[in-house]
Amino acid sequence: MRNSDPMLKLKANDFRRSFELGQMELLQLEKYGWPLIREHAEKLVRERLSKTVEHDTKQTPYHGHPVFIAQHATATCCRKCLFKWHRIPFYRDLTDAEVRLCTGMILRWISAQEDRMRAGQLHLHAEPMKAVVAQ
Ligand SMILES: [Zn+2]
Repeated sequence: MRNSDPMLKLKANDFRRSFELGQMELLQLEKYGWPLIREHAEKLVRERLSKTVEHDTKQTPYHGHPVFIAQHATATCCRKCLFKWHRIPFYRDLTDAEVRLCTGMILRWISAQEDRMRAGQLHLHAEPMKAVVAQ
């Protein structure tokens, strides 16, 4: 269990793999472009995730930015999930290396979504995704 790749486990998890970019987020992706998406990903991780917060598990919305969706899909949405899936302890702030690790997972997921969109594999839902399943 300890040595298995969290990304593989995430792909096998029904809740995590239910996330995909909708039309709104794909539009944002196109509008911002990759350099800005990269910047946003790191900024959002630093601002919302790097410190342990009282409202943990509630800091990442389910719509409004492609990075938010990616965070739910990669279990980088809150400190509880970061600990459960990636074994990053929540009693301390994230290190720079951990911020980069989270940002990397988020960007790889978004990039894979772009590939899926080009391959016609996304559902292209128009409405924002709703948090219907408890984490
Ligand atoms: Zn979470």
